Amino acid sequence: MVALSLSVLSAQTRIVPDKNKYTPAQDVQLGQEAAAEVKKELPMLNDDRVDNYVEDIGSRLVNGIPSDLRHPGFRYTFDVVNQKEINAFALPGGPMFLNRGMLEAAKSEGEVAGVMAHEMAHVALRHGTAQATKGEKFQIGAIAGQVLGAIVGGAAGSIISQGSQFGLGTYFMKYGREYERQADLMGAQIMARAGYDPREMANMFRTIQAQGGGGGPEWMSDHPDPGNRYNYIVKEASTLRVEGNANSGQFPSIQARLRSMSPAYTAEQIAKGQARSSKQPVGTSGRAVVKVDPPASQYRTYSAADFLRVSVPANWDPVGDRDGGVTYAPEGGFFQGENGQTAFTHGVQFGVAQGSGNLQRDTQQLVQGFARSNPDLQSTGSARRESIGGRQGITTPLSNVSEVTGQREYITLSTTQLRDGSVLYMIGVAPQPEATTYETAFRRVRQSLQIADR
Ligand SMILES: [Zn+2]
Repeated sequence: MVALSLSVLSAQTRIVPDKNKYTPAQDVQLGQEAAAEVKKELPMLNDDRVDNYVEDIGSRLVNGIPSDLRHPGFRYTFDVVNQKEINAFALPGGPMFLNRGMLEAAKSEGEVAGVMAHEMAHVALRHGTAQATKGEKFQIGAIAGQVLGAIVGGAAGSIISQGSQFGLGTYFMKYGREYERQADLMGAQIMARAGYDPREMANMFRTIQAQGGGGGPEWMSDHPDPGNRYNYIVKEASTLRVEGNANSGQFPSIQARLRSMSPAYTAEQIAKGQARSSKQPVGTSGRAVVKVDPPASQYRTYSAADFLRVSVPANWDPVGDRDGGVTYAPEGGFFQGENGQTAFTHGVQFGVAQGSGNLQRDTQQLVQGFARSNPDLQSTGSARRESIGGRQGITTPLSNVSEVTGQREYITLSTTQLRDGSVLYMIGVAPQPEATTYETAFRRVRQSLQIADR
């Protein structure tokens, strides 16, 4: 069965780089000079956690670059710009800059990887200097400043002085249809080898377009659609085998972290120099702070999973997850990413787990299961018997360090048995400083629970 796919795999599009009168070393030099300017002029986010996240995706993609396009001097670096507009750009030789707005607009890690793979393909195929080769007679030394003209000018109107005008920089930032198509196809191939589904790139372009509004995001004008883009990427993807699964699972918590920061700068603010004074990391503690309203005193009743009725504070909303569980959380307290991965900082979650008939042992196993995905999970006291939905139950106090906020959080796990031997559980989560307030709510939720399984 495996052999059958070989003929399909061989159909991937072969891309040959254009002729280029510059040396790869010149790509590197140009890119580094321009990158130094970019870092002076644009506000970098400088958040370790977000930077590391993007660097991890980037290094997986670098491993997916085909060997004939690996230039020894190229060094791929990845920085996040604290800018709202959806954009990303890469400079010759490897420096790549991703706007925070792009990370916030993406719907999955694969979509982020899609934009990065596209940009990386431009770099690996040396499109910047290849285009300059076609454009003849430019002085190599003058290029770096011009690149910046295109970047900042493009993003912010015209803060760059006369010198740049229609500078060479445009050659590094705006490509023709053929190079766009090449970057899409090569980017798709890089993604598949790196373990990302290339169709996510096609999805990302739709995501970007959907956010466009009037003129469309800068990214779209820098990387114009050669026509039929979505379809040919999906078609190329069908010829590729995705090798492994590179998805880190961190996307929801990274997005949550970004959303909790003060807003990104607009291009206009950057152009006016308003971003200059605060190039510091956005969260001074280095961690996100999530602001969420306390539990309402009014309660609202929901039916869940056909056999539960439960009342929760009226400002909590139900959110389903892929495993059939349900979470009730206030606005700002719940995060969902690709593949149904969820994280929540405030609220309660209900789920059903396999059971052995021994509630105490099943509860311990459940705690161990949670500890596997929450390494900082700790027991903070002894479990107590407590009626849950009119049945015998166990409530276990725990604490954890939130992946979203980095702060200690208060957790209670309540379990009871269903008639088929499985275990119904409810987890309440709140930041440790708000434990008292939330424990009152959790208790009310537990007491409201009605179970009607058969
Ligand atoms: Zn492009």
